[in-house]
Amino acid sequence: MAYKVFFLTLGCKVNSYESAAIAKLLSGEGFEETQDPSQCDVYVVNTCAVTAEADRKSRQMIRKARRVAPSAIVVAMGCHTEMCKDEEGADITVGTSDRPKLVPLLLERLQIRSAEKENDLYDAGGRFFEYGAVLLQEGTRAVVKIEDGCNNFCTYCIIPYSRGRVRSRSREAVLEEIRDLAGKGYSEFVITGIHLCSYEKELGHGPSALGELLSEVAGIDGVERIRLGSLEPYSMTDELIGMLRDNGKICPHFHLSLQSGSDSVLKRMNRKYDTELFREVVRKLRSAFPTASFTTDMICGFPGETEEEHKESCAFAKEIGFTHIHVFPFSPREGTKAFSMPDQVDPSVKNRRTAELREISDVMEAERAREMVGAEVEVLVEKVPEPGLFEGYCREYIRVLGTCDSDCLKPGILLSCRVGSADGFTLRGKGFPVTGS
Ligand code: SF4
Repeated sequence: MAYKVFFLTLGCKVNSYESAAIAKLLSGEGFEETQDPSQCDVYVVNTCAVTAEADRKSRQMIRKARRVAPSAIVVAMGCHTEMCKDEEGADITVGTSDRPKLVPLLLERLQIRSAEKENDLYDAGGRFFEYGAVLLQEGTRAVVKIEDGCNNFCTYCIIPYSRGRVRSRSREAVLEEIRDLAGKGYSEFVITGIHLCSYEKELGHGPSALGELLSEVAGIDGVERIRLGSLEPYSMTDELIGMLRDNGKICPHFHLSLQSGSDSVLKRMNRKYDTELFREVVRKLRSAFPTASFTTDMICGFPGETEEEHKESCAFAKEIGFTHIHVFPFSPREGTKAFSMPDQVDPSVKNRRTAELREISDVMEAERAREMVGAEVEVLVEKVPEPGLFEGYCREYIRVLGTCDSDCLKPGILLSCRVGSADGFTLRGKGFPVTGS
């Protein structure tokens, strides 16, 4: 009988990718994934440490795993465990740097593999650990990780300590994975990494290395859309923007990490750009992709943030016209410089500023949806909830719901859709199959 494994994944897309990757490795060893945690033999908690709150939740989820599945082997992995190597309550703890050890450690526990074979799975010499091809659940959109680690040391961020320095996945491995996924029907690829534009930085390459890789991805049969994970504004060189424009498959949706719209706060955060550079990058991307959507992450209440700086931040967010802002109240992470910075902002002030910025984000998101009414968009169908109805995303990454009379309506097809109305953040319209999809 196969061992059953349950995954609880906290945090970002990279964590989702890694859980899926580990699930695939375990499936190759005869494990079966289960959605019922009480029935599992192995309970994996993939933790997050991006904020103190994420840390707290990670600890709570590990304790919960023990309660829900008392006889299971509880595995704690991910960013939080990198900082707390002996996580209380877990049978096996692996951080981000030693996660390749997870499978052999598990196998050892379960006594189904010899010790010699286990050594084959260890990552030698701190290189990018090759998981092999990973299929995600959605069936149409797959996340492909190409890079890990970061060299930047923003003053609030633990990632360079927890995940280490930049390591890139080989081009051959990335392309092979995408070929495999495209052959299985996936047509939209989200290319992700901790610091995407640092791809191949350790080999001495600049941001155009990412552009070169993406050109090769675009040439793979079956690849219809390429989305990019979070991008750092200062890495968006003219050369890279030109390569993205000429690629033909890049979706006009860019997640450009802003964090604050106040230059003095950006300086204290040790971010390597100012609002002027950010504005210029957005201008260039808009000129290359006239329908582009921009999303971002912003932090409210960074140490020393004054009311004036908060107002500057809000005004800059409005000026850019983001489609969505992920807003976080600043949460001090032990081990970072910002943890011991003076003038920590009172939690009630942080929460009020966070709510204000979220409100601005909601207004801009609804405005962007309204602006799209009357436009012709391309929708990749992800779900057909009932005959004649579809759900999917347009290239600008706005959700579209609609009707389509075609007999060939099914997940994975491309529709051309005239937007008839906007319902909050969602577009509605009637779709027609794009010839050849
Ligand atoms: S760029 Fe800054 S925020 Fe992003 S992972 Fe690196 S250190 Fe963290």
